[in-house]
Amino acid sequence: MVRTCEGTKVRFDGAVVTTHRRIPLSHPRTLAPSHPRTLAPSIDMPLIAIARCSKLPDYEASVSLAGGTPWAVDQRTTPPEDIIRAANGLLLTGGGDVNPSIYGEAAHPSFSAAEAGRDEYEIELVRRALDADLPVFAICRGIQVLNVARGGTLIQDIPDQVGRSVEHKVREPRSAIAHNIRIAAGSALDTLVGARLEEGGDVPVNSRHHQAVKTLGEGLLTTATAPDGVVEAIEDPTRRFCLGVQWHPENFHRTGEFRSLFEGLVLACTR
Ligand code: MN
Repeated sequence: MVRTCEGTKVRFDGAVVTTHRRIPLSHPRTLAPSHPRTLAPSIDMPLIAIARCSKLPDYEASVSLAGGTPWAVDQRTTPPEDIIRAANGLLLTGGGDVNPSIYGEAAHPSFSAAEAGRDEYEIELVRRALDADLPVFAICRGIQVLNVARGGTLIQDIPDQVGRSVEHKVREPRSAIAHNIRIAAGSALDTLVGARLEEGGDVPVNSRHHQAVKTLGEGLLTTATAPDGVVEAIEDPTRRFCLGVQWHPENFHRTGEFRSLFEGLVLACTR
């Protein structure tokens, strides 16, 4: 069940339920140390809310190097309504598996849950952000959250349900190239990485995931795939900026291969 605005919730079957107007206790009203009031970002350095995860520094560095102001948020510290009010954009990050009960499936034996409450929080956050037309960039688990939030489903385990012809789990080093992706001509992703496209339109990427997009959520298009057909990018072309990628562009901030993706997010936030 997802809280959409004060006073109502929408269940995943779409039913609207009236609720109390109070903020839940799991969202304390105290300000986090990195609250925007203390950051005072300028219009030239848009505030990008980053869903907190265990590998935050590379995401924060990528946002900073692209000219944004990173603001780590999570379900324990920052209510979604505060984020929608204060942030100029949203970055969803890597992490555990989205609970398959949310998209109506039983869990595969490989299921590894995310932090308690994170699924519901991030699904609400991305829905609200898109409703408010805030730019959204969703990475790894983030592309999966974005897809599920729009009613899509996931391949729960690539080795079991797709096969092993492409290795999608190359852990170290984090910027190690695992496989190529092919990008759809004319997509937002194509525009952003166009200068890097090699002969045949393939771009080498890293890969640390065992799940992927299965059926697409409403309004989403596949704009990159791996050689085994696994979806590596989705976007909603009707939004100002709504891009999900399955690889980890944030791990390349030292060398800059995918800086244009973060720059595209930051630029969209200033328009
Ligand atoms: Mn991959």
